Amino acid sequence: MHNLIDNLTLDAVEQWLRQDDRDALEPLWAAADAVRREHVGDAVHLRGLIEISNYCVRQCAYCGLAVTNPYLERYRMSDEEVLDCARQAHRFGYGTVVIQGGEDYGLETDRIAGLIRKIKSELPLAVTLSLGEREPKELAAWRTAGADRYLLRFETSDPELYARIHPPRPRQTYDRFDLLRRLRELGYEVGSGVMIGIPGQTYRTLARDILKFEVFDLDMIGVGPYIPNPLTPLGRGEDVFAVDPDDQVPNEEQMTYKVIALTRLVCPQANIPSTTALATINRDAGRELGLSRGANVVMPNVTPVKYRTRYEIYPGKACLNETAQACQGCLRGRIHAIGRFVGQGPGGRLR
Ligand code: SAH
Repeated sequence: MHNLIDNLTLDAVEQWLRQDDRDALEPLWAAADAVRREHVGDAVHLRGLIEISNYCVRQCAYCGLAVTNPYLERYRMSDEEVLDCARQAHRFGYGTVVIQGGEDYGLETDRIAGLIRKIKSELPLAVTLSLGEREPKELAAWRTAGADRYLLRFETSDPELYARIHPPRPRQTYDRFDLLRRLRELGYEVGSGVMIGIPGQTYRTLARDILKFEVFDLDMIGVGPYIPNPLTPLGRGEDVFAVDPDDQVPNEEQMTYKVIALTRLVCPQANIPSTTALATINRDAGRELGLSRGANVVMPNVTPVKYRTRYEIYPGKACLNETAQACQGCLRGRIHAIGRFVGQGPGGRLR
């Protein structure tokens, strides 16, 4: 096993990603599970996800919230609604809330700062934000207000592919890597990650992504399969970045486990969720298999169901119509069934 872990060069990571033999993959699963247990233990931390707004100014070619999608009925939650979700998350025993949304400047800097203060003064929760590429001064204001963590996936480390699927805003002077560095300087716990199987993503690129996680020493790393959304250009197969079919990463379940496992090996202490996108492509066992192959976090949705159905990043999202109550009961059962337990408290990065 140590041999496997010590030799994760770019070539070795790519070879693992290309490995499709079930028996040959067993040592990878075993190593990831052992490293997970050794560094972050058997606790599975639950983070209550609050989808605060589905407005977005961006034109990401993969995402159903993009401003270019005219079919989405837009919503923005009130402070009181968000607070109710946070209270509910606390009642369920979750130690963190994740406030996520489109890049929505209708969520004003001061309003979000005030909301963070209200949550932090009333509830003993860690607050994670995931609100897109906001201005560095906004990120600073939210940190001052008490936000603990920020999630911003870099999506792919290939600059050409990235530019194709994630057009910049006019006059934007920073990219996601700049923001990740800035978040670190501000004292946030920093989370990032990528989608797996974006059209145009090669094995080499994905191997580079995984080694980038290590270079950035990320505190949290979220990876999930790319799921085509027919209401987006990429989902309709438009303007795809052409690569050799032998090099194209498939957006499949098995590939997702390989990325989770390799991520755990290069970042032993990181908090790694078993994502909803993974649960979406295998509803029966995706979450559990993710947890058994390197992951140690799950992010149950606590958004009111009436909004949740409109936060349609991709179609067919798992647990879409389940109440927060049902979700938490189901998850606890699944976690116990695989011999793990629900972590108490905020469950921050261990150092
Ligand atoms: N506006 C925020 C939050 C976006 S949603 C931001 O851009 O950071 C969170 C993540 O969902 C994105 O970072 C992306 O990796 C993922 N996502 C978006 N569209 C997806 C799709 N079609 N399939 C799978 N994951 C997707």
